[in-house]
Amino acid sequence: MHVMNTYARLPVAFSHGQGCRITDTEGKEYLDALSGIAVSTLGHAHPRLVAAIAGQAGRMLHTSNLYRIREQEDLADKLVALSGMQEVFFCNSGCEANEAAIKLARYFGHKKGIETPTIIVMEKAFHGRTMATLSATGNRKAQAGFEPLVAGFVRVPYNDLQAIRSIAEHNRNIVAVMVEIIQGEGGIHLAAPEFQSGLRQLCDERDWLMICDEVQCGMARTGKWFGYQHAGVQPDIATLAKGLGSGVPIGACLAGGKAAGLFGPGNHGSTFGGNPLACAAALTTIATIEADGLMAAAERVGLQLRQGFKEALAGTAGVLEIRGQGLMIGIELDRPCGELVGKALAAGLLINVTADKVVRLLPPLIFSEAEAAELVARLTPLIKDFLGA
Ligand SMILES: *Cc1c(COP(=O)(O)O)cnc(C)c1O
Repeated sequence: MHVMNTYARLPVAFSHGQGCRITDTEGKEYLDALSGIAVSTLGHAHPRLVAAIAGQAGRMLHTSNLYRIREQEDLADKLVALSGMQEVFFCNSGCEANEAAIKLARYFGHKKGIETPTIIVMEKAFHGRTMATLSATGNRKAQAGFEPLVAGFVRVPYNDLQAIRSIAEHNRNIVAVMVEIIQGEGGIHLAAPEFQSGLRQLCDERDWLMICDEVQCGMARTGKWFGYQHAGVQPDIATLAKGLGSGVPIGACLAGGKAAGLFGPGNHGSTFGGNPLACAAALTTIATIEADGLMAAAERVGLQLRQGFKEALAGTAGVLEIRGQGLMIGIELDRPCGELVGKALAAGLLINVTADKVVRLLPPLIFSEAEAAELVARLTPLIKDFLGA
């Protein structure tokens, strides 16, 4: 095996999938409650997406951002309409989308004469693995061994508006606050609505940019196109990736308000970013979510899952909390539970554990009510058995 050893991989490989089921190379079938970490929005081999990708591949895969790209312009129009933003930069992943956001915030600062622009970030945040996004990430284990980190970030506890206010009192270099409306890798933690609106108000008062990393919670997964739409706040920058292309790599950095119109030619770029293939996949993903009512489905089926697990696990010692929004769900246990992933795999279920103790469920948006009932029925005994309950 000559693949660099950056993942603790499970000993299984998959050959094909259909809807929310995927099959391994031995022919065993699994129910996919993870979507490759919030990526496979439309599940597997969705006929409409397959046709769109094949059609686009037959016309043109790549030209270059040296030229206009019609699919990219169409996707930008669509994302602007859905997000309340004004313009979009396209890239290929979540960390790149966040890099663009960080560069925008620094540029915004420099334009106001702030020479060492600083961004407020959260404890337990995850923003990516590139040097700047790793530095913004609130996980010492992920950063260890890669110092020196990129300067220009200060960290506060999540949901702590007072901590941000007190930094504002003495630090004149702050240009932005960067936040996940629902922390994914950090363990499915939700930003309180008052925190979100307070942040917006503070950003207005102080002339800071509000940046929402929607890489995991965006794209209709929580029952709205963007997580920030639940509380009705409008950030200046939002980033997308994971679910945007339903498996075809694409990222996007959306800017509005004070963050719009900052960049000019030469300020940023990406060879592959916004290529016709990736944009066709994203346009089809969005069109399918709209045509098939998948946003409302995410809300409905997500509620069914949370209620289902609450009932099934009621009174089980060791289950601390079941939380989430739409199809972004965490079941927090009182102990590290990474081994549940392997147990679930053996039982034909794809799930994940994050932040040591949180079972994380991120099913495709096409997850049906029957599949949700099946997931509750099949996963509950594994959790109870693990807890010795
Ligand atoms: C996954 C994730 C990223 C990083 O995305 P990559 O495509 O792996 O670079 C950034 N932010 C959040 C919130 C994520 O969940």
